[in-house]
Amino acid sequence: MRVADRLAAHRTGWHVGEVVAAAMETPLSRRIELEVPTWPGNEAGAHLDIRLTAPDGYQASRAYSLASSGPGTHVTLVVDRMEYGEVSPFLVDELAVGDRIELHGPLGAFFIWRPPMTGTAPAAPMPVQLIGAGSGVVPLFAMVDAHAHAGDATEFRLLYSVRDPEHVFFRAELEAAARDCPGPLRLDLLYTRQGPEGWPAPIGRITRERLAELAIPPADDPTIFLCGPTPFVEMVAMWLVELGHAPERIRAERFGGAA
Ligand SMILES: Cc1cc2nc3c(=O)[nH]c(=O)nc-3n(C[C@H](O)[C@H](O)[C@H](O)COP(=O)(O)OP(=O)(O)OC[C@H]3O[C@@H](n4cnc5c(N)ncnc54)[C@H](O)[C@@H]3O)c2cc1C
Repeated sequence: MRVADRLAAHRTGWHVGEVVAAAMETPLSRRIELEVPTWPGNEAGAHLDIRLTAPDGYQASRAYSLASSGPGTHVTLVVDRMEYGEVSPFLVDELAVGDRIELHGPLGAFFIWRPPMTGTAPAAPMPVQLIGAGSGVVPLFAMVDAHAHAGDATEFRLLYSVRDPEHVFFRAELEAAARDCPGPLRLDLLYTRQGPEGWPAPIGRITRERLAELAIPPADDPTIFLCGPTPFVEMVAMWLVELGHAPERIRAERFGGAA
């Protein structure tokens, strides 16, 4: 069965996943590998809900994007630790290899990129501009990975806003994809607090001017996937429209945080 059909069949499913590996991705985030025997496969951009149940029955659930793409029952997540958060500190500091957790998904049909050659959906129009901040890069990484594995010729650009070099998620994989990917991938890192020694670009939050300079121009009619904290997403989406991108070409996913 095609991944898309399997996802449709299991869209509202509950699953139990076992943690098979976990390691710090950056000083504040952790990559968690799960084996989920009933998982229908990973579409790039999808997410799931994790539900935790305390011994007294109290439950909390939060959404996490899939860093993994493609078929199979292996699921990769990367969780950023929110100070004073309810769920993320547990996932980063306490969840252990061998633990089993409840998962609901895969979810998120709107924020999905499929390689055009698979024929599983209307081909994603070319080119594709990915724009993410912080952990918002997780579903975008899954798209980059799917693009690299599909080897299709869609032009991809990833504009990734991150506080400093040690907080870059997926650094080695992104650099390898930008270097070796059969289809073109341009990686634009935008450091908000501190860049590497001698970094030639300005340090600071994204501005409308930087966005105009780095993003695929509206004349090329890119599909845009935009993901990150709510204030970042809302500001960038507004600028994209002001710059001439059609609103229906912008797919946005808000991770939370004060607006
Ligand atoms: C579709 C979707 C996919 C997501 N994917 C990921 C992912 O791949 N990795 C990941 O780390 N997180 C992801 N998130 C965010 C995640 O669901 C939680 O919101 C986050 O882990 C904080 O949960 P918490 O229980 O620790 O904090 P909470 O107890 O819920 O909140 C603590 C405080 O942090 C603020 N806050 C919550 N989330 C954010 C945020 N993203 N940015 C800034 N402030 C915030 C809240 O406003 C609150 O003040 C995703 C969210 C959505 C909706």
